[in-house]
Formats: sequence, structure tokens, C-alpha cells
Amino acid sequence: MLHHHDDDKESHSLIDAAYDADMVIALLLRVALALPQIPAVPPAVIDSAVAEAAGIWAPYRVAIEDAGSCIHADDDCRVLTVVPVVVSPGAARPAGAPGWRGALGQIRFGPDGEPENAVTVFITDIEQFIAGAPIFGAFLSMRAPALRNQLFGRVLGRVLAHEIGHYVLRTPRHDADGLMRPLQLAVDLMSPSRHRFTLTAAEVARVGGSPMTGRCRD
Ligand SMILES: [Zn+2]
Repeated sequence: MLHHHDDDKESHSLIDAAYDADMVIALLLRVALALPQIPAVPPAVIDSAVAEAAGIWAPYRVAIEDAGSCIHADDDCRVLTVVPVVVSPGAARPAGAPGWRGALGQIRFGPDGEPENAVTVFITDIEQFIAGAPIFGAFLSMRAPALRNQLFGRVLGRVLAHEIGHYVLRTPRHDADGLMRPLQLAVDLMSPSRHRFTLTAAEVARVGGSPMTGRCRD
């Protein structure tokens, strides 16, 4: 009986080991998002946002994780601090041009041309953006908090995925199409489909050749 149990355990371990080896070979980079706990962003929204950003980046062999699982891990994991900006009613809105970078998310580049290890997300603007969307706004009353949180997490995750793009690609530049477009349509940001949030072939090549990536390969 005991022996049989050991056999089971061993075969299970072998499967796990093979799976882990594949992951090590496949991954180019791990980015851990450090999001502070604030009342304006419930944990369910954070979980959903991290999962959405992870889903967008997984095809490019970049893992997006919550920093809780990786902040003390090995040095092939980059920690990106997420700074949420919440504007209380009546307060002056932060300055910035309308559109994706000005309104929903932002990453700064230093004088050396390198991105900072921090991404700003404009939470109030994201909430207003969702509530003001012509199709979805009517459904997003307080009577439907689960739907609201789902859409909030999805849009936040896509905003984060775009800013992570600037971080991983090491450039403030935008592209005419895909994840790195400077402006996204509300219908795309809220759509259950991620098909508009892809990298161009040139961007995929840049990810593979980035000085940040390759650290996970052994
Ligand atoms: Zn951008």
C-alpha cells in the first residue's frame, strides 16, 4: 500500500519536473506587478487585471504575475510598481492629454531613455471610462457589482499590459495597430476577446532581443 502510494507520488513528481523544465526554457521574462491594496481597487479586480495582463503577454513568453509570489524570488523576475491614482469627487483632475496615456495609464522614461520601474494607472479615469461607454454604461450600476468588477479588471489589465509593453520593449513609441496603439476604442478595451491586443512582428522580435529578456533561459 505504502509502496503503491510512493509510485504515484514519483510519477506525479516526474510530470511536475517536466512541466517546470518546459517553463524555464519557454519564458523570456517574468514581470511581477506590485499593486498596493486600496479601497478603490478590490482584490477581485486586481486578480482579474493581473490575469488579463498575463493572458495578453503569455504568447510572447513574458509571464506577468502578482508581486506577492515573486518579490523575494530570483533575479530573473522584474518587479514593476503600480501606482494607482484616485481622484476624489470635485478635486482637480491630473493634467494630461486625453487618450490612453494621458487618461488611463502612464510610464515615465528617464533622461537615459530607459523606462522607470513604475507604472501609473488613473483609476478614477478608468472607472469613468467604463461607466461612460455607450454600450456598457447602462449595465454598470451599483446593482451589478460583479459585472462592474469584471470589466474594471479587464480594462485595468489591458491598460497595464500596454504600459508593460513600453517597459519590456524599452521604448515610449507607439504602433498603428495592436497592443501598442496610443488609443484604444472602448469597445475593444471591454470586449471579452483579446484579439486587438497583440504585438506586431517587429515588436515580437524586439522582445526577444531586449537586454531584459533571455535571463530565464539556461
Ligand atoms: Zn503608450
